Amino acid sequence: MTTAEGPRPVPPSGRRPRIIFVIFGVGGVGKGTLVARLLRLRDKLWLSRSWTTRSRRSSERADAYVFVDRDSFMDRVKADGFVEWTEFAGNGHLYGTPTLDAPEDLDVVLEIEIDGAAQIKERYPDAVLILIAPPSREAQAARLRQRGDDEQSVARRLAVGEEEDRVGRRMAGFVVVNDDLGRAAQELAGIVDACRRHADEGRRE
Ligand code: 5GP
Repeated sequence: MTTAEGPRPVPPSGRRPRIIFVIFGVGGVGKGTLVARLLRLRDKLWLSRSWTTRSRRSSERADAYVFVDRDSFMDRVKADGFVEWTEFAGNGHLYGTPTLDAPEDLDVVLEIEIDGAAQIKERYPDAVLILIAPPSREAQAARLRQRGDDEQSVARRLAVGEEEDRVGRRMAGFVVVNDDLGRAAQELAGIVDACRRHADEGRRE
C-alpha cells in the first residue's frame, strides 16, 4: 500500500496499517458530541487534538484544543508540524492537525472541517471520510445559537455550510445524518466496524 508520503511501513507487530477516520461536516452539526459517543462505543481509537488560534469558549474544556496565538501556529506550519491546516471560513481562525503520533495499535479519528478533510485524503488516500450532515438548516442554526454563536456568526456559518454540504457529499465515503444522537453514533460505530473488518480481510487475502 502506498500513500502520498511513500510506502506505508508494515508495523513491527504485523498488524494491519491503522485506519484514519475523518469525521467532517459543517459547524453546528454535532460532530464533537458524536465523536465523543463513538469513543465510548468503540475502543482502540485515538482522537487527535487540534491546534487553533481562536480563544477558548467558556463552555469548553481547557484541553479541547491546543490554544495558541497566530505566530506560534505559523511557526509550527513552517516546521512542517501539521498533516493539514486551514483558515476556517466560518471565523477566520487557523486550525490544524499536528503530526499524527498515535500508538501503532490504535486507529485515528480526526474531527475537522471540509478543507482539512480534503487535505487528509490527498495525503492519505486510504483515509475514510465520513460526512456528518444536519437533519435540517433550522436544527443546525439552533445548535450554533445554543452554544453561544451570535446571529452574524450563525448566518455566516449557515451560508458556508450549504456549499460545504454539497461538496462534502461528493468527497465522502459515508454520510451520517445527525437526526438522533444515539442512532447516528451507532451508525458511526457500524462504519468503524465495517472498515476494520474490510482492512483485516484485506490483510488475510
Ligand atoms: P470550532 O471553533 O467550532 O471548535 O471549530 C470550527 C471548525 O473547525 C469545526 O468544523 C471543526 O471541526 C474544525 N476543526 C477543528 N479542528 C480542526 C483541525 O485541526 N483542522 C481543520 N481543518 N479543522 C478543524
